[in-house]
Amino acid sequence: MSIADQSPEYIRAISPYVPGKPITELAREMGLAEASIVKLASNENPLGMSPKAKAAVAAAIDGIERYPDNFALTHALAERCGVNVAQIVLGNGSNDILELAARAFLGPNRSAVFSAHAFAVYQLATTATGAECVVAPAKNYAHDLAAMKAAIRPDTRIVWLANPNNPTGTFLPYGDIEDFITSIRSDILVVLDEAYNEYLPLSERFDTLAWVRQFPNVLITRTFSKIYGLAGLRIGYGVGSQAVVDLLNRVRQPFNVNNLALAAAAASLDDQVFLTDSFELNARGMAQILAGLKKLGLESLPAYGNFITFKIADAAGVNRRLLKQGVIVRPLAGYNMPDYLRVTIGLEHENARFLDALEHATHG
Ligand SMILES: *Cc1c(COP(=O)(O)O)cnc(C)c1O
Repeated sequence: MSIADQSPEYIRAISPYVPGKPITELAREMGLAEASIVKLASNENPLGMSPKAKAAVAAAIDGIERYPDNFALTHALAERCGVNVAQIVLGNGSNDILELAARAFLGPNRSAVFSAHAFAVYQLATTATGAECVVAPAKNYAHDLAAMKAAIRPDTRIVWLANPNNPTGTFLPYGDIEDFITSIRSDILVVLDEAYNEYLPLSERFDTLAWVRQFPNVLITRTFSKIYGLAGLRIGYGVGSQAVVDLLNRVRQPFNVNNLALAAAAASLDDQVFLTDSFELNARGMAQILAGLKKLGLESLPAYGNFITFKIADAAGVNRRLLKQGVIVRPLAGYNMPDYLRVTIGLEHENARFLDALEHATHG
């Protein structure tokens, strides 16, 4: 018996998350200069972080010997979200919130429902508790709420919903989600993952936080990793009923979010100029890449975030040829989408480099 055999079967069955390839790694592998590499693989903000956040991080270095105090940020978020402070939970990335929800509500002999091609962390967080994953078929790669409802079992305790979803970029109309929430058992926690909420076109904005006030079984998660540009600091948050947040706090490690992340997040929340710049850059880049893909005759899925998922013959080969040219995108074979690649919208010149490299990779 090896020591590894002592881990529960359900832990040994987990396949670890595969992150986007770091720039430093590709530079080592291909002997390329780091500065020549364009990484459009992890839905990061190409503008970096807000200058206000940067200043706040520098200032927060003084005081780093103290344990973090999340008072200021939880209060700012509560005010922003129109909820009580006791309805906010901070996470080490919103990934952390997903894990807290899984730990608080799942376990052996329970199950969680999510869609095929949904964000990989739902499976990881579910499996790690010993609960079972029930995967509902998708429709045109988007979540199919009717199929998800049909997949619910008596032992189901969580439904994971990403809107927009990653890696597909697809989006569900709010009316459909509301109908779904009201039509399922109210003892099932609906985790609505809104990592890309701030990138939604203005015409698609909707006050989903109203659901938190209305339905005690809805938990909304958001992150500072995407439009706020703080992926490396690891900070996100959950908004839910007091009862749910209380449970999450019981399984949360006491100081799960560090001082620098707290300071940066608080400073970013108010930097409307940076947020608007990021949003507009993304909208322009989206148009640029969509036009380029169209010119190459490539079909993409409806895109509502800061990335585009497109279909391409020999996706694995194309990905290899992109890497050789110093362009990193995300292959989606691990999401059961072997004919697709996902590209994050970057700066204008990065998008152009990608499109140029893609043309070479397909016709070269
Ligand atoms: C990026 C992402 C997250 C969370 O990222 P964190 O860095 O952990 O906040 C959550 N859900 C989806 C769908 C994402 O794409």
